[in-house]
Amino acid sequence: MKILEIEGLTKYYGSTRVLNNISFNIEDGEIVGLVGPNGAGKTTTIKAIASLIFYNAGTINICGYNLAKEREKALAKISSIIESPAFYGNLSGIEHLNFIKDLRKVSKTSLDNIIEFIELKDALKKKVRKYSLGMKQRLALGMALLSGPKLLILDEPTNGLDPSGILDLREFLIKTAREQKLSILISSHNLEELDKLCDRTVFIKKGEIISELKHEEVLDYEEYCFATDKADAIGDVLSKLPYVIHHSINTNVVYVQIAKNQLGELITVLLQNNMKFTNLQFVKATMEHKYKELYSEVLCNERIS
Ligand code: ATP
Repeated sequence: MKILEIEGLTKYYGSTRVLNNISFNIEDGEIVGLVGPNGAGKTTTIKAIASLIFYNAGTINICGYNLAKEREKALAKISSIIESPAFYGNLSGIEHLNFIKDLRKVSKTSLDNIIEFIELKDALKKKVRKYSLGMKQRLALGMALLSGPKLLILDEPTNGLDPSGILDLREFLIKTAREQKLSILISSHNLEELDKLCDRTVFIKKGEIISELKHEEVLDYEEYCFATDKADAIGDVLSKLPYVIHHSINTNVVYVQIAKNQLGELITVLLQNNMKFTNLQFVKATMEHKYKELYSEVLCNERIS
């Protein structure tokens, strides 16, 4: 079942078009990453789904409810944590949860389940101003999950978290998505994290979707590195081979990304051209490599400016 359906979403700020014909879906229980450089349109997309901004064209359906026509029903199905969640420092964690429980008319049983789930235990009685960032994240997630949403929207949730906080959050999100069949849309610059978390990733650039890949498709190539004293000449050869996706040279070390199962072909070509190399090693394929491939022009401009 489709939890989120976005079709042709377009948004202007003044005369500037910041989203152009954005379309993608999220299935039940799916974790989807939204990735792109600064200013690509991630937050604008997320704010449009959470109905925090108006959009100029397109449709957004949440659990089959049209956001423009059945706003309340659609919004009842989602929770979002966008930018820093606001807390009342002088209230305790449990007071925050009780506030949402009363506001959203949530049952005591659901509250107890969430309390158990966020594992804040005794800390729930403490005032929130004494919480660490990680504890605040857990509380924010508890508050967001209390109303039993079908879609959770998170904007840069790992910002400011230490490595163990990031690990906790990842485990928490995967557990919630799998156990409660919750769909999650997560915008982040933390590619390594998205690599580990997402079932699918939507890549956005200058307000347009440039690629949409399942987890296994993100890693659809192989990367190798090797040492050589003919790096520049090898670079010239590599740039002409159709199965070479990307290559870079660092003094006498060549990094090359190739389509799957083409290593034998590559070695044959190098040897035929009398290009000797040593220390051939497999480098793990990651989302970061895919990002470099998709946004090479953006990265290049960043380096120049
Ligand atoms: P980042 O990774 O930096 O958070 P992003 O992908 O979330 O970037 P958005 O915040 O969605 O990007 O911004 C998309 C474009 O819309 C940018 O060019 C930005 O300058 C512009 N923009 C965002 N908010 C406004 C606003 N309130 N008024 C005018 N332009 C805006």
